[in-house]
Amino acid sequence: MKNNLSIVMYHYVRDTQKSKIKNLKALHIKDFCNQLDYLTQNYNIISGQEFVSYLTDIQINLPHKPCLLTFDDGYKDHIDYVLPELLKRQISGCFFPVTDTLYNDKLLDVNAIQCILSIIDNQKPLKILENELVKNGFNREKLLTLFKENSFESKYDNSNIVLFKRMLQYLLPKEVRKKIINSLYDTYVQIPQYELHKDFYMNFKDLQTLKKNGMTIGNHTHTHQWLEHLTKSNQIKEITKSMDILKKYHLISDKWLMCYPYGSFNDQTIDILKSNGCVLGLTIRSGINEIKKNYFNLRLKRIDTNEINKL
Ligand SMILES: [Zn+2]
Repeated sequence: MKNNLSIVMYHYVRDTQKSKIKNLKALHIKDFCNQLDYLTQNYNIISGQEFVSYLTDIQINLPHKPCLLTFDDGYKDHIDYVLPELLKRQISGCFFPVTDTLYNDKLLDVNAIQCILSIIDNQKPLKILENELVKNGFNREKLLTLFKENSFESKYDNSNIVLFKRMLQYLLPKEVRKKIINSLYDTYVQIPQYELHKDFYMNFKDLQTLKKNGMTIGNHTHTHQWLEHLTKSNQIKEITKSMDILKKYHLISDKWLMCYPYGSFNDQTIDILKSNGCVLGLTIRSGINEIKKNYFNLRLKRIDTNEINKL
């Protein structure tokens, strides 16, 4: 039997006025509440566990118009703003923390880059990056060729911003990326990373609170890299390290959910997941899913909160 499943994707949900980083692309808590009201009126919000039971137990069926709510990256917003609103409405969500943030007091690259761009996105960010790289011994001509060879389209960002992000997320060598991110962060953001870290991410206690309140926690890897650009053995490390930590703290069960950082995966990722008990994989491709029982649903599409009108 086939079923249609809608999955909504959330990242930051906060009182944007109070955010230390202005211009961060966050959903305002009031808009989040309005979306929840719309979704609860028009859909049946199901929990991660209910969906896993449906996939693995022949007896269990899904309600009409099922919808799953997903929250990526383990932001403090999720415990401060999201959990109370879900509990008020007696619904459940799936949360995907990045386990390295539980141990380390630095921002994830993805977030440090967002903070930098929140300040320089109107000031020719590629030029700023180019100058920084030249200072670090890169040849300007070669860099411009690299820029030309890598052009990307995105629904949300202009092509220069996408290229700026990708250069610092995977195109440049790892050590160079780290160095440039830290240098640009210190120049433009000027709030110590450990301070923002406390504000940005949930800790173990928060995750335990989510779990106690019936929420589902899943795997978003240990350090949030583009998996398709890693070797298979590094992909295994990223996935199993996170899985082991979440299991050790009883935060995930044997049949668990995966959410690909940046929506990035390849066939090797799928093999790793299949042999490690993962039953569901979330991409960032936009759309509604036709799902099947007893089948690995490892390429599920989601609707971003900004595109909720597509539901
Ligand atoms: Zn993420």
